[in-house]
Amino acid sequence: MKVIVTVKRVIDYNVKVRVKADGSDVDLNNVKMAMNPFCEIAVEEAIRLKESGVATEVIAVSVGPKACQEQLRTALALGADRAIQVESDEQLESLNVAKLLAKVIEQEQPGVVILGKQAIDTDNNQTGQMLSALTGMAQGTFASKIDIQGDKALVTREVDGGLQTIELAMPIIATTDLRLNEPRYASLPNIMKAKRKPLEVKTAEELGVSIKAHTKLLSVGAPAERKAGIKVADVAELVDKLKNEAKVI
Ligand code: AMP
Repeated sequence: MKVIVTVKRVIDYNVKVRVKADGSDVDLNNVKMAMNPFCEIAVEEAIRLKESGVATEVIAVSVGPKACQEQLRTALALGADRAIQVESDEQLESLNVAKLLAKVIEQEQPGVVILGKQAIDTDNNQTGQMLSALTGMAQGTFASKIDIQGDKALVTREVDGGLQTIELAMPIIATTDLRLNEPRYASLPNIMKAKRKPLEVKTAEELGVSIKAHTKLLSVGAPAERKAGIKVADVAELVDKLKNEAKVI
């Protein structure tokens, strides 16, 4: 059984994001980029499925510019067998990404597809759900456990106030929550080996997908700065300020 795992190149989560001076978008100039953290969890889960003998091959897929090959090489260093880059120089909305991924799925026929629950750059939380609708595959979103049992899969999901376990008919699409696993680091020998693993480049045209924009980014603004706090001398002053300045009591 093949497993497809998707990998998105995003701003590294440690970087303080800057907005362009004209407010048109986030400034990506000279910014450190990395694999989306939820995709790291997805890659780890895919590799564990291979290590436990459930999967025979792990294929990492990314939609993006040539630079996203860097994140695909990371996935290969972590243990994926081969990679596919679907070339696109634009930031695509989730529906277009899902349409491209659906075509790759049609070609590869995986038993399991694992995506992050959301990309930390746009916070869409849409691609996995849309992919399930386009392919007709069962979906288990926000998975904190994935247990493949032959022709069915048990997916445990984090829901309000607890855990929900659902049974899905294979093949499945799962999206990862934070507590699914703890991703490993790539070792130096594996980083070297990854350079020789196959990485195929496809275009939207080759996949027969026409990219159409359905949404337009109008503006991006930095969050409002928080006002500095103050120290009060005693409880009486606190109560006075809450009553007369903040007017909350
Ligand atoms: P989103 O719906 O954009 O929040 O993304 C959810 C997940 O879909 C991400 O964690 C990725 O696994 C996958 N995904 C979204 N965009 C891309 C992309 N351009 N290339 C590869 N995977 C993607």
